[in-house]
Amino acid sequence: MGSVVSAIARLVKRLVPAQGPEIHSLGVTLSGDVDRCTGAVHHSPFLNWHGVELAHLVERATGVRTVIENDVRALTAAEQWFGAGAGISSFVLVTIGAGIGCGISLDGRVVSGAHGVSGEIGHLPVGAVDRICTCGNAGCVEAVASTQAIVEQARQVTGWRHRADHGGRRPVRPRRA
Ligand SMILES: [Zn+2]
Repeated sequence: MGSVVSAIARLVKRLVPAQGPEIHSLGVTLSGDVDRCTGAVHHSPFLNWHGVELAHLVERATGVRTVIENDVRALTAAEQWFGAGAGISSFVLVTIGAGIGCGISLDGRVVSGAHGVSGEIGHLPVGAVDRICTCGNAGCVEAVASTQAIVEQARQVTGWRHRADHGGRRPVRPRRA
């Protein structure tokens, strides 16, 4: 986690010249259970972070006020302000990639939920208990339908492997017996 904070501090220093305008605040988004009010990351499975006071750490490293937010909720706000959701009072946004998330905008406001985890559809149990999720539970949507889960299932079915597993880039056709 220290390397991430250091990288943010280096980036801020590089992007903002010493003689340039003063930065009012920084926004940092990441996947997981993020508490914007306290600035803490309760749990981020991809980063394997638990109870990280990220906003405080970034503020200390950069000297700039910092706000953190869940990446999908931030994306939902961006779509509401500038993108496909502009002019639409209520919509739902679904992201599918390394994780599966859902942002909800109701009556022009991004919904966080009572516990700040609205839209966490990636960890709904859908069966397939033989598939372990990054959160540690079995059968989550992400364990079945995320990019990595689909690639892994394709590998199992076809026997194909990627040369990246061996330092290359092209797919490797499985050997026939
Ligand atoms: Zn999960």
